[in-house]
Amino acid sequence: MNTTPKVIDSVVNNNLCIGCGMCVYKCPSNALEMQWNEHGFLIPKVIENCDLNGDCSDVCPFNPFPKDEVKSEDELAKICLPNSTQFHKKIGKFERIYAGYSNEFRLSSSSGGLATYICAELLEKKHVDHIFSIKEASKPGTHYEYAISSSKSDLLIASKTRYFPVTLATVLSEIDNLEGTVAIVGIGCFIKAIRLAQHSEPKLKEKIPFLIGIICGGVKSSFFTEYLASKMDIEASNIQKPQFRKKDITSTANDYSFSCSDADNEEKSIKMRIVGDMWGTGLFKANACDFCDDVTTELADISLGDAWLDPYYKDGKGTNVVVTRSLVAENLIKEGIRNNDLAMDLLPLENFLASQQGSFNHRHNGMAARIEIAKNNKQLVPPKRYEQEKLTIDFKLVQKQRMQVRARSLAIWKKNPDAKSFDKQMEKPLDRLKFLTKIYHKRRRFTHLKNRLIEEIGKRIFSKNKMK
Ligand SMILES: Cc1cc2nc3c(=O)[nH]c(=O)nc-3n(C[C@H](O)[C@H](O)[C@H](O)COP(=O)(O)OP(=O)(O)OC[C@H]3O[C@@H](n4cnc5c(N)ncnc54)[C@H](O)[C@@H]3O)c2cc1C
Repeated sequence: MNTTPKVIDSVVNNNLCIGCGMCVYKCPSNALEMQWNEHGFLIPKVIENCDLNGDCSDVCPFNPFPKDEVKSEDELAKICLPNSTQFHKKIGKFERIYAGYSNEFRLSSSSGGLATYICAELLEKKHVDHIFSIKEASKPGTHYEYAISSSKSDLLIASKTRYFPVTLATVLSEIDNLEGTVAIVGIGCFIKAIRLAQHSEPKLKEKIPFLIGIICGGVKSSFFTEYLASKMDIEASNIQKPQFRKKDITSTANDYSFSCSDADNEEKSIKMRIVGDMWGTGLFKANACDFCDDVTTELADISLGDAWLDPYYKDGKGTNVVVTRSLVAENLIKEGIRNNDLAMDLLPLENFLASQQGSFNHRHNGMAARIEIAKNNKQLVPPKRYEQEKLTIDFKLVQKQRMQVRARSLAIWKKNPDAKSFDKQMEKPLDRLKFLTKIYHKRRRFTHLKNRLIEEIGKRIFSKNKMK
């Protein structure tokens, strides 16, 4: 008889685990524990006998066999955000969209400081008693972890973006033993895991009445941190206090740096634009992210990202894009504007879509190609909303190459964790990706011009016929 937990069989063994750890919480026989894998990700490992009840896969955001009522973010949103008044295919259920920043938290935050502001207001206005977000780890062997904040001063040390693997594995058990209610900050798949847990255990809805969503372009392995440190000649074992988004307020918002201290506590930093494109290439990214089509953290009460948009990106102090999805979230924003705590513009939908253009293109338009490739490799994949898109061969080749770059970056770093050697070995695959992307862009531009020309000719013929 197969005694492997379902989540290991269908998710972890198909390289679909994102490390949220909800399966560890849900397992009634305590058979699972989160451990670091060989590629710098946190995944569940079997430590006890499993009773095979399958709860573990029911709460997994990448479960290849979800129940129909929670098949995708669309179905789940109907359950957990029943009162949102608007819906858009690409961003889910919502109330309003804004761009702006918090006057108090902007400079101490990664973007416009809205995440810290919302957490502080939730505590201040007693919507919740505690917040779980990311702080420096208390135990060795990791840099960051989920931790509790119950005051504004606590929240300040929990601000800033951490491109580092974290897990919720013990968070929900801690919450079970806590007095009062809790809000949790999380990226899309973690928020989905919490919504699935709330669906299977309704008492969690009362205990966790608010979720703060962080818009996510992909989860990076701990190798990403090691690589950036190695660029500054700091060895992995000596990395201290990595900071992923050090602002340069005299420059643009996307001109940020990575910094960390070495063994002698000396801080070094490197501009990310010198390092090169770490996001569009898929370097050091989790495989599961290639099978996520939730670009805007659709299941949170509020979703927060970066306003990579003109004119906002020109201000190095940072600006958020904000999607409110529940009444509480919408009221917090409105009140913040009224009190002059927040400087916000209502953002037209098309501008918001443009701010996440690259992510939509990759995760929605390219999904069908990646699913086809995975299925050809006999790998299970979760059902996706964008798996039927028709794709051109050039775009499929871009997707295939990106998947190879992603896998290769992890394999190469595992073998030899040295930035110079890594850059050399990744040169060819990255050049090929650049070349294929260029062809795709050119063909797309050509198709666009051709369609416009055909349209123009059609219009002229039509108006001539009309005149006759
Ligand atoms: C892995 C990752 C990828 C991202 N990709 C994109 C993207 O493609 N496009 C985009 O627009 N924005 C992206 N962001 C979001 C962006 O970096 C900012 O976090 C967001 O705009 C909020 O900024 P802020 O100034 O309001 O946050 P702050 O006020 O600085 O607060 C940040 C909050 O996020 C929490 N946090 C930090 N790291 C994590 C983490 N790993 N998991 C969960 N919570 C965390 C902190 O504890 C804090 O509560 C990403 C964030 C992460 C963590």
